[in-house]
Amino acid sequence: MKTSKCLNPTIFVIFGGTGDLNLRKLAPAIYNLNSDGFMSKEYAIIGTARKKLTDDEFRTTLMGGINSFSRAGKVKKDQWEEFAKNVYYSSSDVSAPETFTDLKASIEKLKKAFGPKAQVIYYLAVAPNLFPLIAECLQKYDLVGTEEDCRVVIEKPFGHDLESAKELNKLLAGIFSEKQIYRIDHYLGKETVQNIMAFRFANSFLEPLWNRNHIEHVQISVTEQLGVGDRGGYYDGSGALRDMIQNHILQLLCLIGMETPINFDADEIRNKKVDVLKAMRPFSPEDIRLSTVRGQYSKGWVEGKEVPGYRTEKDVNPQSNTETFAAAKFFVDNWRWQGIPFYVRTGKRLFQTSSLITIQFKDVPHQIFPAGVAEHWQQNRLIISIQPEMSIRLQVQAKRPGLDMVLNPVDMVFDYKGTYTAQAPEAYETLLLDVMTADQTQFMRADQVESAWELVMPIVNSWESKTSLSFPNYPADSWGPEDAEALIARDGFHWFTLPLKNKD
Ligand code: NAP
Repeated sequence: MKTSKCLNPTIFVIFGGTGDLNLRKLAPAIYNLNSDGFMSKEYAIIGTARKKLTDDEFRTTLMGGINSFSRAGKVKKDQWEEFAKNVYYSSSDVSAPETFTDLKASIEKLKKAFGPKAQVIYYLAVAPNLFPLIAECLQKYDLVGTEEDCRVVIEKPFGHDLESAKELNKLLAGIFSEKQIYRIDHYLGKETVQNIMAFRFANSFLEPLWNRNHIEHVQISVTEQLGVGDRGGYYDGSGALRDMIQNHILQLLCLIGMETPINFDADEIRNKKVDVLKAMRPFSPEDIRLSTVRGQYSKGWVEGKEVPGYRTEKDVNPQSNTETFAAAKFFVDNWRWQGIPFYVRTGKRLFQTSSLITIQFKDVPHQIFPAGVAEHWQQNRLIISIQPEMSIRLQVQAKRPGLDMVLNPVDMVFDYKGTYTAQAPEAYETLLLDVMTADQTQFMRADQVESAWELVMPIVNSWESKTSLSFPNYPADSWGPEDAEALIARDGFHWFTLPLKNKD
């Protein structure tokens, strides 16, 4: 979360260089960081994968990725030529020793040219089953440097459950120090997510209200219109709870729930986030029955096109018990939040793509206006829209202009588009700059990952041990299973959505 540029010469080693993540996200991010002047003059990118490619062929592959996916559009000739000459490719299988001996020779050569301040960043953009092997080989072939000059980035998912996350943490801790390990959750790099901290802690008016005395409930809703697409094979072994709630959504919840850090130090902020996870009420079997909902989409129609049900998607088990929708009611058992529900929901093939955090404040303690004055009475709400709309809006009651006293809710809106002309950086740009400048604030510490797994494991185990008899239980293009509406309606609330902009 720095604004400074990276001063140290940097060598990126990207395992999975030909993969989707590198082409869509990493290469465009590094290219844009370089074009915007955030990289040291001396840098190199070494991509590795099994596919046979020359350096030039790899460069062309990356150019294709950047041209298709960069927020800044197609590459510019001068910038591309400067970038391309720093890009190299090594065709190798991570199970072969030569991969690492060759890599060592390339890194040493570059380090010699770059001088003593050169740093190496290993980015593991490969399937999670290769994380342990690569980390072990980096150690075995003497490729692990010091805290100052060597870091490793681990992609999500970090573990499949609590036990595997602990195992991976243990393995990594035997090779790297915690200060060298960057467990990425790209959600944390999003501009709007980072702004939650700024909004909460750089303004004085919120803190006195930010507690159980004034807040009635909190909602976090991350919904997607798309189905699983080509990711059926991966998704069917994962599901909405693992894929979204264990990581992204719990991290958003931590940003809303955390106490005020005493400074902007990475560990201080992460300590405060872990405190939230540790204060979260564990789920008993009864809580799972009453306070969680799972769903799976059936076929339906989206924007005039028929779409398949989950069980007939590519690479999905036709009897799959995997949830494509999950909702839950959490509690944070501490002084600030005791008794205040945090409702979360996420799912695929839903009516709208949006990520929203809604904080609903309590009603006024006494109504001074005569009945009938308010055409529509609504409690105050703070709505943080993360994507696709990037905004923060405060909903208040106001008098409608005119001779009569008529009250209506209105929105006070901070809208990124209307306020700033500059394009927001992509999350991966922010996070890669953080890795280069050794700032771990936006990365998950070992204990954060384990605490989040600990919280969701009872739900994971319960859902996996009992086949859902109601699946599929929501049609494509709906808001999910009816039980999810009932979960929140039982407490007198409803799920909040923003007026549609990305639909119709
Ligand atoms: P992918 O498209 O399947 O790419 C995997 C890469 O690994 C390819 O470059 C592949 O190239 C290489 N590879 C596979 N086996 C190898 C081996 N034995 N030795 C050397 N290289 C090998 O996967 P991805 O979508 O980029 O995802 C990569 C990681 O990022 C995963 O952990 C994923 O969960 C995570 N992630 C991805 C996204 C995304 O948007 N794609 C988002 C969040 C997280 P070869 O087959 O040529 O070897």
